[in-house]
Amino acid sequence: MKIVGFEATTLNIPEDDPLANMPEEAGRTRPVVILRLRTDSGIEGIGVTLYGGRMTRSLHAAVEDLAALTVGEDPLRIEKIVAKLRAGTGDACGPGGIFTLALSAIDVALWDIKGKALDQPLWKLLGGHRDRVPTYASGSLRRGLTDAQAQRAAQILLQKGFREMKTQMALPGNPTPAEEVRRVRVVRDAIGPDIKLMCDINQRWRPEQAIDIGSRVEDIGLFWLEDVTAADDFAGLARVTAALKTPIAGGEYVWGIVPFRHMIEARSVDIVMIDLARVGGVTQWMKVAGMAEAFNLPVVSHVMPEMLLHMVAACPNGLTVEYMPWMLALYEETPAIEKGQLVLPDKPGLGLKFDEKAIARFKA
Ligand SMILES: [Mg+2]
Repeated sequence: MKIVGFEATTLNIPEDDPLANMPEEAGRTRPVVILRLRTDSGIEGIGVTLYGGRMTRSLHAAVEDLAALTVGEDPLRIEKIVAKLRAGTGDACGPGGIFTLALSAIDVALWDIKGKALDQPLWKLLGGHRDRVPTYASGSLRRGLTDAQAQRAAQILLQKGFREMKTQMALPGNPTPAEEVRRVRVVRDAIGPDIKLMCDINQRWRPEQAIDIGSRVEDIGLFWLEDVTAADDFAGLARVTAALKTPIAGGEYVWGIVPFRHMIEARSVDIVMIDLARVGGVTQWMKVAGMAEAFNLPVVSHVMPEMLLHMVAACPNGLTVEYMPWMLALYEETPAIEKGQLVLPDKPGLGLKFDEKAIARFKA
């Protein structure tokens, strides 16, 4: 089998909140680049990448440039292709950034092709540890909501069957530590003690603030505190992780595989979060998961649950899948949730098919 062609398309996807319909700001969109990689056997693999922001035109061009380098290659030889793409772009792109985001779209499409060619779902090809994975609702309990809105959103998520959900601290303005604590308690009170509650800081605290506020919320029973300070301050993160009983999660802003080594060696986090686009695709995601396993650490996903459930389910240290619904509208069908768990699909590859009407609607 050989790769014979490709098509990249830039989309602007509405940034709404389909889970609880509680958007902080109506009308915003998020740019993403989707890829179709075609083979001479008629099998087509799909990939998606994001985070291009105002440089999405450049990201789109990078996806096309890398895809052009795959033409004529055997799509089942993924490591050979990754090496060719790295070599083919020289040192111009650095170890992270647009090169890695574009590489991710290619790598995901190659794995989709491999699954379809072997007639197996991706999670089985990658290890197949289990056929259901816990998932948590994300993107609804945001820091910009009023207390009443956050409580209402939490009720809606419970009614939808979620047993895990994520909220945020580092509230807007300049809140006191007491105000931060009060807000998390409002959310906890709305859901009761048995629901797993995560809390994202999105890198907005200093390490000493994280230790201060983190120690004040220990009794609320958070499942994890996420990105409590600058993601590359591995020593600062390690101080927070050592000081708090609540597990510290981080890694969504870490690029490629080597920086994860430094993060994990520094004991910066208790839970390793791996972003599919920033790590460079499925191949690199699984390498980081294996590295974390060797350090007795669980791994979790970041956004795109419709793809990441395969990887979290495949490895023995997969903990839970972030159900961030940003891109669900791109597909005809996405994996079902039963009793708070995502059900792994039987369809080959990613098991996803673009909804062509939605693609046409979102086209940039
Ligand atoms: Mg996060």
